[in-house]
Amino acid sequence: MSVLVITEQRDGKWHPMSWEALAAGQQIGSSLGIAVTAAVVGGDTESLAAELAANDLAGVVRVEHELLADYTPDGFSVALRQLIESTRPRWVLFPHTYQVRDFAPKLAASLDRPLVSDVIELRAEEGQLVLVRQVFQGKFHTAVSVTGEPPYFASLQSGAFRGDQVRASADLAPIEQVRIVIEASQIRTKTEAPFREAKTEVDLSGAEIIVSVGRGIRGAEHIELARKLAQALGAELGASRPICDSGWLPLERQVGSSGQTVAPKLYVAIGISGAIQHVVGMKGSQTIVAINKDETAPIFEIADYGIVGDLFEIVPALTGAVLESKQE
Ligand code: FAD
Repeated sequence: MSVLVITEQRDGKWHPMSWEALAAGQQIGSSLGIAVTAAVVGGDTESLAAELAANDLAGVVRVEHELLADYTPDGFSVALRQLIESTRPRWVLFPHTYQVRDFAPKLAASLDRPLVSDVIELRAEEGQLVLVRQVFQGKFHTAVSVTGEPPYFASLQSGAFRGDQVRASADLAPIEQVRIVIEASQIRTKTEAPFREAKTEVDLSGAEIIVSVGRGIRGAEHIELARKLAQALGAELGASRPICDSGWLPLERQVGSSGQTVAPKLYVAIGISGAIQHVVGMKGSQTIVAINKDETAPIFEIADYGIVGDLFEIVPALTGAVLESKQE
């Protein structure tokens, strides 16, 4: 009985949520007293597997095949099904990425097992794992436990677990390469360029710094203020829903329950009140800075640093200070 964490990479670079899934896996492993193994899938996984092996894991599995070099839902499901059938884990964990949303339901269904998606919390109760997930756009939390024969599948919401809290180990975990049998005819789709590389699309979930703007900005003509701060910080621009609904920024910049879930190192919220639907999308950020003229705004309840004042004075001053510090 073990926990198997399926990590995600593209072209040899980790998806940052892989580390969050690994941290969650280690948490389950400790709570239930079972071993944790991590798998990396792709065309060439040698160096990535070596990186994983430096963590507190019972083992690392390379799921490698030339037909896995490019992601396809068929290829990944066929390969991971073989891995799961041969290693028989109790829990299979994934980061809740776009790719996982694409293939994990198919994989779980092919084994006639449930997938609990977008989990925000895990806890052990009487030796059984309870998973917490949000419903009704984040208004309620439900606690889910899974019955029946394992394996059980779960995906973890971006930002719900801290990737920087993965336990490293001085002893390297053993690395094993599993033999995967896939025929080209089993893959029914041809991979096109990844959609997030399209010019109009943004994947905020991988951003390290996000400057996010809310209704306090008053009009599209003032968005430039936030954009300048974002540029100075090397940040992506995010927004609350009213900003995107008004067409002041494109929809893919929206953070929250009906937008993207983000977990940057730094999240700067400008003129955002902190409604629950916004907060569920950014509360996993490591450091939150809020700028708001209302000292009772709920955003201050989750902010690490709060600046109470007029954003039209504070944001340009902050941008100036950041630019000045770069010149020093
Ligand atoms: P407001 O709540 O209007 O807050 C503006 C803030 O700016 C205020 O706190 C004010 O004090 C401050 N301010 C004003 N002027 C200044 C100034 N000069 N200087 C400094 N501060 C100033 N929202 C999301 O963001 N993301 C979602 O994904 C999302 N999904 C939703 C899904 C559903 C089903 C529903 C019902 C709602 C959803 N919402 C979502 C909307 C959400 O409920 C809030 O309405 C929204 O987040 C509020 O956006 P805001 O904070 O920008 O605006």
